[in-house]
Amino acid sequence: MSFTLAIVGRPNVGKSTLFNRLVGKRLALVDDQPGVTRDLREGAGRLGDLRFIVVDSAGLELVDDDSLQGRMRRLTERAVDEADICLFVIDARVGVTAADEYFADILRKRAKHVILAANKAEGRAGENGFLEAYGLGLGEPLRISAEHGEGMDDLYRVLVPLA
Ligand code: GDP
Ligand code: MG
Repeated sequence: MSFTLAIVGRPNVGKSTLFNRLVGKRLALVDDQPGVTRDLREGAGRLGDLRFIVVDSAGLELVDDDSLQGRMRRLTERAVDEADICLFVIDARVGVTAADEYFADILRKRAKHVILAANKAEGRAGENGFLEAYGLGLGEPLRISAEHGEGMDDLYRVLVPLA
């Protein structure tokens, strides 16, 4: 286990789907309901010859109080602080939202390394959202599909020098 990778982003962008793909088991709950992952889940991730700890986070929420959302947000911040690398996922089909921009700022301040991934971009879907992702100022985004396994070779290539 050479590093810890935390998958972060707002609810419903496909974090748990990506976690499942990297862990290779259905450990995380995938659901159409935003914010279905309420706790941090850890698994043994593998991608090519890389072995790492992968953390599926609750989904960054804008609320910071005693509510469930506030608790989820604090859990996510803990995951960000403890991770060597944060994989920040956006939904390429929806494009960059105000919440994505807000959390990009948090990651810029808190995270050691950020990899930006525009998910749900299978086939030619989400091209506009992918291009918008450059505007987050977190470097060149990856075009991925967690559900269909596209872009995993590119993810591997950016992880290798950080491992
Ligand atoms: P999370 O809330 O960020 O953990 O998102 P989930 O992994 O639970 O996924 C939310 C929804 O997006 C589910 O309906 C998934 O099937 C769907 N989804 C996840 N990844 C992809 C993808 O690569 N392409 C498409 N089209 N849908 C996806
Ligand atoms: Mg989830």
